[in-house]
Amino acid sequence: MKLPIYMDCHATTPTDPRVVAAMLPFFTEHFGNAASRTHSFGWAAEAAVESARAQVAALLGAEAREIVFTSGATESNALALRGGAHAARERGDHLVTTTIEHKAVLDTVARLEREGFRVTRVPVRTDGIVEVERIAAALEPGTILVSVMAANNEIGTLQPLAALGVLLRERDVLFHTDAAQAVGKIPLDVEVLGVDLLSFSAHKLYGPKGIGALYVRRRGSRVRLEPIVDGGGQERGLRSGTLNVPGIVGLGAACALAQAEMPVEMQRLRDLRDRLLAGIQARVEAMQVNGSLRERLPGNLNLSFAGVQGEGLLMMMNDVAVSPGAACDSANAEPSHVSRAIGLPEDLARSSLRFGLGRFNDVEEVDYVIEKVATAVRRLRAESPLFATESSREKA
Ligand SMILES: *Cc1c(COP(=O)(O)O)cnc(C)c1O
Repeated sequence: MKLPIYMDCHATTPTDPRVVAAMLPFFTEHFGNAASRTHSFGWAAEAAVESARAQVAALLGAEAREIVFTSGATESNALALRGGAHAARERGDHLVTTTIEHKAVLDTVARLEREGFRVTRVPVRTDGIVEVERIAAALEPGTILVSVMAANNEIGTLQPLAALGVLLRERDVLFHTDAAQAVGKIPLDVEVLGVDLLSFSAHKLYGPKGIGALYVRRRGSRVRLEPIVDGGGQERGLRSGTLNVPGIVGLGAACALAQAEMPVEMQRLRDLRDRLLAGIQARVEAMQVNGSLRERLPGNLNLSFAGVQGEGLLMMMNDVAVSPGAACDSANAEPSHVSRAIGLPEDLARSSLRFGLGRFNDVEEVDYVIEKVATAVRRLRAESPLFATESSREKA
């Protein structure tokens, strides 16, 4: 077993060596600009881009012409939300989202709000799932767009996209989902889900960083977007700029691998995750799982350990890469908006860890992490007067 162990796959994933191998020729031998129409260098690049576009579309049940390449989920979210809102301005001014979205969505809708759009942020249940009825209740005649993430990046909870798709199609409201944590991890079909816009990044599914895509519906009701980057008119004018050909090839390869391996990999990850949970549960008392365990990404676990500080835990586990379960970002000691949204008390938010299991983790690593976590929690609790008060308060 090699140390340190990486178990933080919600932050990013290693690029699969098979993806790297597919990309390499497009840095050197086939370095052409996909927009060069007059020679074979350009043609080779364009052919590779179109083949990758088909691989991405196949994973999502989309058509190739519905895929727009971007620099990642952040940009895809911006294009979907800003582009969708501005293009629909004459139809209405109201947007609906949830309280547990990624900052890339929340900060984008906040900016739209400053520009004059109205925004409703629908709360989630304590299990981290939004109720379809609450989204329905938030809709107004002027609602133009609803954005609900597919899977949460902290607590891994899966949102009821298919039911939302039925509702929003009925109401003729644009439906966007930030699926950065879900694409390649769980089955997602844009037709089954009824989504109009879907964002994701390659680096969350064992592809390279700095490349991603936005699915934009063209079948049935065609979605209108205003571009946020102007220039050479690439990607049907929706996203100008010379295409990142190696990145796009890598994204395509990553999607093809995820699609081929998903059924087996989902079960393998779920088993590893359940082993991790059972192992820690057997060794540590007074811990809890944050977010629904059932409606959850296969590789996600978010745990709170009463009476210990997450940072202290992380320091004692320096050969295991996990994240604080509820930290906004490293520069910010405040508990995250997600932990507040699910009503997690501040002390439990501060005592939480997020485990992100992925393709390259195995049983041996999981068993090592179980022992490491259990030892760290026990040692910290033994030193902590806080935990004594905690458990006596629980008993009282
Ligand atoms: C990682 C992530 C993003 C941002 O992806 P980038 O690659 O940094 O642009 C957006 N939304 C969610 C849910 C994510 O997990």
